[in-house]
Order: sequence, then structure tokens, then C-alpha cells
Amino acid sequence: MSRAVGLSGLCLAVALTAVMGQTSGQVATRNVILFIGDGMGDSEITAARNYAVGAAGRLAMDSLPMTGAYTTYSVQENDPSLPDYVTDSAASGTAWATGRKTSNGRISTSAWKDEDLKTILEIAQERGMRAGDVTTAELTDATPAVLAAHVANRTCQGPGDMTACPRDRRSAGGPGSIAEQLLAHNVDVLMGGGAARFDQQTMDDGRLPVQDALSRGYAVIGSQAGFELAAPGRKLLGLFSPGNMTVEWTGTEALPYPSNVARPQKCREDNRPLGQPTLAAMTSKALELLDRPAGPGFLLQVEGASIDKEDHNANPCGQIGETVAFDRAIKIGIDFARAHPDTLLVVTADHGHTSQIVPIPTDADHPTGVMSVLLTHDGAPMALSYSTNAYHRLMEHTGTQVRIAAMGPGAAKVSGIMDQTDLFQVMLHAISR
Ligand SMILES: [Zn+2]
Repeated sequence: MSRAVGLSGLCLAVALTAVMGQTSGQVATRNVILFIGDGMGDSEITAARNYAVGAAGRLAMDSLPMTGAYTTYSVQENDPSLPDYVTDSAASGTAWATGRKTSNGRISTSAWKDEDLKTILEIAQERGMRAGDVTTAELTDATPAVLAAHVANRTCQGPGDMTACPRDRRSAGGPGSIAEQLLAHNVDVLMGGGAARFDQQTMDDGRLPVQDALSRGYAVIGSQAGFELAAPGRKLLGLFSPGNMTVEWTGTEALPYPSNVARPQKCREDNRPLGQPTLAAMTSKALELLDRPAGPGFLLQVEGASIDKEDHNANPCGQIGETVAFDRAIKIGIDFARAHPDTLLVVTADHGHTSQIVPIPTDADHPTGVMSVLLTHDGAPMALSYSTNAYHRLMEHTGTQVRIAAMGPGAAKVSGIMDQTDLFQVMLHAISR
């Protein structure tokens, strides 16, 4: 008994030394990898864990040594001194990308004043670091956009989408659409969906963003086979779908009670088209292209985007499949960080979402929204309820705090209750050493 206690105490001491040693200046930070699960609140993580590995199982993201929670509220456009308790992805992304809170819909611009806010990617590039931006959404969607674009409204994704951003038009002296700005920032690795946004004529000179990419020296690819064209030192623009990339899993959407209470469903796990890489494959390729043996390191953001989109759709299999795919990408990142101990890795979400794990409903007691029952890895039924909007409407985000977890140098700052803007400071501190 005493020997067992002694051994576990020794293991704890070794583990603490590893974490604290990396946070006390013994290991400088070269690389920062930020994983964003869009809409991945604690309910989404727990539902995916229960379904995929069982209630007592653990996901890759559960293995990170430092864990805290952060608040996600945004601010009101007409009075930024007041909170908006339920953020969207644009305002929340702006918070970690710039350290400043803004109003919903804005991409790295300030509420009310519409000033451009400097991003962590811009600072990293000034320090000679490479940069990567990977997502399963359109590359011009809010979360990938916040790193390397400044527009008044998230809808201004391509040169033909500029109605809500008159001051950002290039013809008005502005920096152009999100697609144009991502390229103008010369982000080394850009991978995701949204090919159609890069194929829109500009208002000014008739050129397409994809032509601009080629003239800037990007290798432009449209399927996983194109990975062969990617080489370290050459910029990569991977556009694997006209819009958002296809979700990995499918199943029956949630329905009003009694829904499928009598017949719990298993998800189909074969929905990704040939040629579309997994998020894990994109993460692996991005790390291969960004890593270099010496000199300044890199900043890479990887977004699992459609956890959010399938939550909006009240589709439990889509949501869980995207969370599992996101976790596989995180595993790639963790393996890289273990082999490169000068890497800070952070996993978090941008906001909470609608799905809730509820008791198996009965005629007497059931949620008023829509629901679905799934047969989990444990062989037990799990009921998920979606009730933040009316049936047939898109479900809404929630204003809860969400998990943030980390490993590597600087990870000790990720603990307790933080705010989303603190993540900017954590990353800034990491790349400033
Ligand atoms: Zn959303």
C-alpha cells in the first residue's frame, strides 16, 4: 500500500515538474497551436464522449494537463459599455484574436467606432513567425476570418458580398472582403471550404481572389490529392468545397416528443466525400508545412466549425461526428506538441450551444423542444434536447462559460475562470519570449 502511494506520489511530482518546468521559463515557446471547437460547450463535449468512447472513457482533448473556463460575452454595438450575454463567432473570435471585446457580427474591428484591431496573427508575422488558418467551414467564415481580416460585418466574405461593409470596399479605399484580406496577409497555410468566395469578381479590377492567390505565389488546390503540390516554403491555399465542407456523420434530426424514444439511433459515419481531407489530415499537413528546425516558429489555428452548424440544425449525429473529428485533429496536435516541447497548445470553444443531455423522456416528463435518443458506446440510450428556438427554426447559441485547456510552455496560465480576451494575452506572452 505504502509503496503504491509512493509511486503515485513520484509520478505526480514528475508530472508537476513537467508542467511547471515548461511554465517557469526553462522552455521557450516557438509554436502556438490553437484549436477552436465552434459551439463546443461542455454539453457537446460530454455528448461526444458518451457516444464515442462511453461515459467513463476519455477523449484526446480530455488529456490536457491544464484546464479552466472562460467567459464569452460580447458587447452591444450602440453602447459597448453594456454586455451582450450571447456572443456569436465573430465577436468571440475577435476577443482572442485581438484581446478586445466587440459586438456580434464584427471581424477584428471595434464596436461603434469601427476601428481595425491588431490581431495575434499580425503580431506573430511581424516577429517572423509563419501562420496557418485551417477550418471545416468556409475559410471566409467568422472564426478563420478574425485572424487576418478587418471588416464591419462577417457577411462580407467575398468581393461580391460587400453590401454590409461599404467602408471596407476597395473602391472606397478599404482593405476589401475577407477573402481578399486573407490573401493580402500572406497567411502561409489556408485550408478549408469556401471556394466560391474566392471565385467572385472584385468590384475594382475584375480579378478573382483565386487569381490574386496565384500571383502571390500560392499553390492552389481543390482536393486532398493536391497535397502533393504543397511544400514547405511555398504558401498553400486549399479550397476543398464550394461552401462549408461536408460533415463526417449523418443521422436523423431531432424531433418533437416522442421523437425516436422507442428506437434509439446509431449514426452513419461515412458521409465525407472522396477528395475532402479530414480535419486531422489538414492539421497534419499544416504542421508539416509550418514546422521548421530553427528560427521563429509558427501560429496555427484549427477550427472544428460544424459542431456549431449541426447544433443549429438540431442534428445530433452531425454534431457528435464533427466533435469526434475535431478531437482526432487535436490528437495530431498533441502528438506534435509532445515531440516539440516548445509548443503551446490550447483547446477551447467560442461559445456554448443548445444541445443538452436530458433524462429519457416519458409522456409525463419531456422537453418542449426537439430531441433525439442515441445508442451510445456504453450500449445505453442518451437523450439530447434542443430547445433554444422554436421547431423548424435554427437553434441559438447560449451565453454560458466554456472550457479552455492547454499543454506546453505557458499552459499554467490556463486555469480558473478567465475571459476570452485573456487567451490573446496567453498567446501574446507565449510568442513574446
Ligand atoms: Zn453558430
